[in-house]
Amino acid sequence: MKKILLSLTILGTALYSCTPKIGSIINVSEVERIETVLSADDMKGRQLFTPELDKAADFIAAEFQKSGLEFFGGNDSYMQSFDMLQASPSTINGSLDQEALSTSNVTVNSTSESVEVKSLTDYELVKVAKDANFNQLVFPVLRADKNVVVLIDPAHAANFARLGRIAGRAKFPTEYSQVFIMTDNLDPKSLALTAKNTVTKQPLKNVVGVIPGKSRKDEYVVFGGHYDHIGIGRPDAKQDSIYNGANDNAAGTTAVMMLGKYFNELKDNERTLIFVAFTAEESGGFGSTYFSKQLDPDKVVAMFNIEMIGTDSKWGPNSAYITGFEKSSMGEILQKNLVGSKFHFEPDPYPKQNLFYRSDNRTLAELGVPAHTISTSKMEEAPNDEPNYHKASDEIGTLDMDNMTEVIKAIALSSKTIISGKDTPSRVEKLD
Ligand SMILES: [Zn+2]
Repeated sequence: MKKILLSLTILGTALYSCTPKIGSIINVSEVERIETVLSADDMKGRQLFTPELDKAADFIAAEFQKSGLEFFGGNDSYMQSFDMLQASPSTINGSLDQEALSTSNVTVNSTSESVEVKSLTDYELVKVAKDANFNQLVFPVLRADKNVVVLIDPAHAANFARLGRIAGRAKFPTEYSQVFIMTDNLDPKSLALTAKNTVTKQPLKNVVGVIPGKSRKDEYVVFGGHYDHIGIGRPDAKQDSIYNGANDNAAGTTAVMMLGKYFNELKDNERTLIFVAFTAEESGGFGSTYFSKQLDPDKVVAMFNIEMIGTDSKWGPNSAYITGFEKSSMGEILQKNLVGSKFHFEPDPYPKQNLFYRSDNRTLAELGVPAHTISTSKMEEAPNDEPNYHKASDEIGTLDMDNMTEVIKAIALSSKTIISGKDTPSRVEKLD
């Protein structure tokens, strides 16, 4: 009897050591170590185009390397670098009928050094009359892949000034330009305009690591979260001006890094796993937009976007929600894989907030990928909100490290059948 027991114990130990226990890899001390570095004051709020954001990227890459992840695609490092372009107007010359055009009544949205409109029929023409809906007419034009001239009645002067600030932001290189002219002459006979811009490159980077699949290498499961935040602001009552972004989104980034480490120790994924720390979420999702163009979205079978998981959800500890739950079967698969555990995923309880379209899952979801955000962030009115959201007080001390660790473990466990190829979530409806 004793002998049998002993051999059973040995067998048990052998099985046990083959599959490392999840808590030995994803645990509070590791989660806290990474979260502490990312949300420290010396990261100065991880703002775009700052050396501190690069420092955060270097830290993430070093951790990916320690975990043994491979580079993505043909990259020669973990950095997925790209350039945004920022154009500032130097000169504008021209005329609309007899009216002289200059930087005071014209805004050009472009990434070209020189923009020339030779006639009224050269570009598509849009008119924004005094009583027209400015936002409805103008914002689609700003995003359009075509050359457009927009004539805007001076009644919209305040919005016109806003356009100048938007046009001055960094954007993806484009061959198209949009010219906005404030004038009360909405039926002109002639137009000629030349604009010169000073264009500067603004480099950005995502950090991407990969664990190739054992058998289904061409089927990808993506784990992502943004690592940028909003930098330094006005000092608060405590004289704190650094927006640490501990919850938003050092927490999600920590999860991505921990999951990379965990799955690379398991090394039993049939599908290829991609781990990505996105840049520039806070300024419009540039990082995830770029990433979604570097792979075939039809090959992405699931995307976990992890955003603000550092606090307890509205249901208390051991729970989180999934945005866009009804848009694919992914949420049901994750729920099924947690049956019998203490953790539960719920559908997003804040549908009016439109969260599905407000984070880095959006670009892949629009391309048909079951791409959902997992979060614990409370989005109701105070006191049922996140009191530190986009404030200097979003600091590590306000996070529940134990619960955050449980959220990360739940993501790992619930994704098991997707990673193994047993389950494939249904696709999200593509947007045009
Ligand atoms: Zn965020």
